[in-house]
Amino acid sequence: MKRSIVGFRLDEEDHWVAELDCGHGWHVRHQPPFVERPWVASEDGRRSRLGSELDCVRCDRMEWPEGLTEYNRTPEFDETTIPAGLRSEHSTKKGVWGRIRVFSGVLHYHVNAPVGHTFRLDPESSGVVVPELAHRVEPEGPVRFRVEFARKQEPA
Ligand SMILES: [Zn+2]
Repeated sequence: MKRSIVGFRLDEEDHWVAELDCGHGWHVRHQPPFVERPWVASEDGRRSRLGSELDCVRCDRMEWPEGLTEYNRTPEFDETTIPAGLRSEHSTKKGVWGRIRVFSGVLHYHVNAPVGHTFRLDPESSGVVVPELAHRVEPEGPVRFRVEFARKQEPA
């Protein structure tokens, strides 16, 4: 998925990491002649790249980013109390990740692009909700679940 660069930081080895709005980080090394990114060495160069887009394959792999903080959760739903909004296609906002936790029963979790896929969630397997990625859920029968929302903590 296309994600925007929202900032830069240095890692433990003093390499520049671009921080994306999804919460993932990408190394942006200047390693001539293999990778030419002279802009990364200067502050002006880095600033000029803020807002530009990278293809985040970690989002495509639905990889939970490091360092997220849970900040909200839904009540516990069952097959009769699932809000209609969760059954029809919807998505979370920029930078908002979700964890679908099933306490009993089975919940079908349908995800759209990049490749449509249906996950069968149960108490042993939770679902990862990727920011801005359209999805919906459907109970297989009696089920109890909730969704926990997490995002990067805003720097103080
Ligand atoms: Zn990402």
